[in-house]
Amino acid sequence: MKRLAVLGSTGSIGTQSLSVIRENRSLYSLSSISCGSNIELFRRQLAEFEPSFAVCAYKEDALSLAAEFPRIKFSWGMDGIVEAACMQEVDMVLNALSGMMGIRPTYEAVRAGKDIAFANKETLVAAGPLIMAEVKRRGVNFLPVDSEHSAIFQCIQGSAGNRPTKIILTASGGPFRGFTREQLKNVTKEMALAHPKWNMGPKISIDSATMMNKGLEIIEACMLFDFEQEDVIVHVHPESIVHSAVVFSDGAVIAQLGIPDMKVPIAYALSWPKRLANIAEPPNLFEIGSLNFEKPDEETFVCLRLARRAMELGAGYPAVLNAANEEAVAAFLKDKISFLQIGEMVESALAHHSPVQIGSIEDVFEIERETREFLI
Ligand code: NDP
Ligand code: MG
Repeated sequence: MKRLAVLGSTGSIGTQSLSVIRENRSLYSLSSISCGSNIELFRRQLAEFEPSFAVCAYKEDALSLAAEFPRIKFSWGMDGIVEAACMQEVDMVLNALSGMMGIRPTYEAVRAGKDIAFANKETLVAAGPLIMAEVKRRGVNFLPVDSEHSAIFQCIQGSAGNRPTKIILTASGGPFRGFTREQLKNVTKEMALAHPKWNMGPKISIDSATMMNKGLEIIEACMLFDFEQEDVIVHVHPESIVHSAVVFSDGAVIAQLGIPDMKVPIAYALSWPKRLANIAEPPNLFEIGSLNFEKPDEETFVCLRLARRAMELGAGYPAVLNAANEEAVAAFLKDKISFLQIGEMVESALAHHSPVQIGSIEDVFEIERETREFLI
């Protein structure tokens, strides 16, 4: 029985993770779960899974649920999330939080020797070198949940020490694939949130529309698999069937295919090196018929280019990119800025940043604070 902490259990990845766990109750139990403000859903999860520890974003929610569930211990805020991740009985932490709030719990859980199933890419973008150094030092398993990175990870299983020379990172292209900058000027929040292939949380949906999601994923791939950004080649693939691929020195390409269903990479991260049964139907290639690939348009979707630049500059730049993007996406979701201003805000934050060495996660938080302050 693997005992899990699921951070962000009420989100898109969190709820899909709980479905995988629900269907495999003989293999997994929930020790702790955490939510933000969706208390209604959290209450149902608590009743169903009866974890020993639960965390809400706000104290008043935690106290009122504590009265309803006397057998469960409750806490709140960031300290609570870190405690949920580091509890002694936990074997693996599934980080399904959104944004940089995942940095501290991930870092502390790795230091506490926990295996990690990892969806929360912003954390790896902002604090990747520090986290991956701890992963090596502690010898924990750090298993990607993001579908592309799970695909890459699956493609290199059994490669017998042969290192791929390049990564082919696929992208659906999002709701605005093929749009010109002129057409992007007036797109609305509703249009940006309507992803053609995946049903996801609001932040990543906007990131997919700007293609910042793919930019963050380039950096995530560099951190996870120790690659240079120029060796991660983005292929726009509107069918979202090939989830990514790796290229070997002899010219062979190994790809992973599947229908777009996050339960597959979630299940693989939970069960690796084994596979669970009956997670999804395999794609029907006769019905799909053809698979298409295009070069991304980095002039129109500037966030891709900005992410590459931040990765190339290194040090604190990826953290600036990420913090600025979080700030810009939040402003766009509140109708305070236009769609194209997201890239402009990120670009101006990168230009404003003076390089500093990153020695600890506190340095990352300082960069985050400075970036947000500059943009407000
Ligand atoms: P969601 O926004 O759907 O979920 C985020 C989770 O974090 C929710 O449980 C939310 O709680 C919780 N949360 C939000 N704010 C706070 C807070 N202040 N304190 C504590 N908890 C909080 O995001 P997704 O599931 O879409 O994405 C999660 C991560 O996975 C992201 O990093 C994303 O990039 C990555 N990812 C997502 C994919 C997807 O298909 N969704 C695919 C690949 C990667 P509540 O809802 O209760 O407020
Ligand atoms: Mg992805």
